[in-house]
Amino acid sequence: RAKADGRGTFCFFRDEMAATVEARRILELDLRKALANEEFELFYQPLVNLKSGKITTCEALLRWNHPVRGTVSPIDIIPVAEDMGLIVDLGRWILRRACMECMKWPEGVSVAVNFSPQQFHQRDVLSEIRYALEVSGLPAHRLEIEITESSLLRNTQLTHDILSQLHALGVRISLDDFGTGYSSLSYLHNFPMQKVKIDRSFLEGIDSDRPLTLLRGVARLSADLGMAVVVEGIETNEQLELISADGTVTEGQGYLFSRPVPAVRVRQLLNASHGRRIPDDQIALVSS
Ligand code: C2E
Ligand code: MG
Ligand code: MG
Ligand code: MG
Repeated sequence: RAKADGRGTFCFFRDEMAATVEARRILELDLRKALANEEFELFYQPLVNLKSGKITTCEALLRWNHPVRGTVSPIDIIPVAEDMGLIVDLGRWILRRACMECMKWPEGVSVAVNFSPQQFHQRDVLSEIRYALEVSGLPAHRLEIEITESSLLRNTQLTHDILSQLHALGVRISLDDFGTGYSSLSYLHNFPMQKVKIDRSFLEGIDSDRPLTLLRGVARLSADLGMAVVVEGIETNEQLELISADGTVTEGQGYLFSRPVPAVRVRQLLNASHGRRIPDDQIALVSS
């Protein structure tokens, strides 16, 4: 194949590949140091009950304050950390930090933590979670674990067992980004999960009939199966009105309510609102 493409082309690709490999090697080296150097930070984004306007949960979202590159997105960090086998250490840090942070919030507010498939399928995931609750003192019912459909694909029986044990422990499971993956509707009733987060791609073109019907159908189905329903990525009042209209969607999350903000800021927000509706001036504050 290289021969057919001609020597020049081959060299071009080889150099480019070498550059990519080198960049990747540097990223991995940096990532290894980042935990020890305390370059990771958790931001938090509220989930709001659509009826009461109260913040029910804040989702922890990873940020990497790289000394040279600046803020690095979790989308660039998590897959590399998975490949490197660093996800277990990183995930442990995220979980414990998030549980400790939640202890500083009003009692009615929970914390949601994202688990990547590898992290979810690590051998001692249950002891990891139990231990994080123990060291932080956080009651299990204030922890929500967000998994994606890809975590449900492998080893179905084992996955089912883990979810059941988490449920027995009192931890809630939330199915994140629903509708982006394989979207087998059977997941919704085959696995014990308490919440579905409908992906924000469902909001695209929501002002026309078909997408709205689709979103409402998925929401209705999830609600009928006894799950709480969240819509992610709400950015406008029009979107909020459309999804609130039939009362099926229980919570909303998105820039309209608040962007993900640093821990100090979410603490201020929660204490200012004392579990009440986010005051309008605070919405302006956190979404700016
Ligand atoms: P996710 O769990 O679905 O989180 C929601 C993402 O959508 C966040 O991006 C959030 O900032 C963004 N978002 C929230 N509201 C809006 C909105 O109204 N409009 C738009 N356009 N975007 C909105 P972020 O923080 O960059 O995280 C991206 C993904 O990285 C997350 O998607 C999650 O899959 C992953 N991730 C983030 N933190 C962690 C973590 O601690 N552990 C693991 N395993 N994955 C994480
Ligand atoms: Mg999430
Ligand atoms: Mg999500
Ligand atoms: Mg998403």
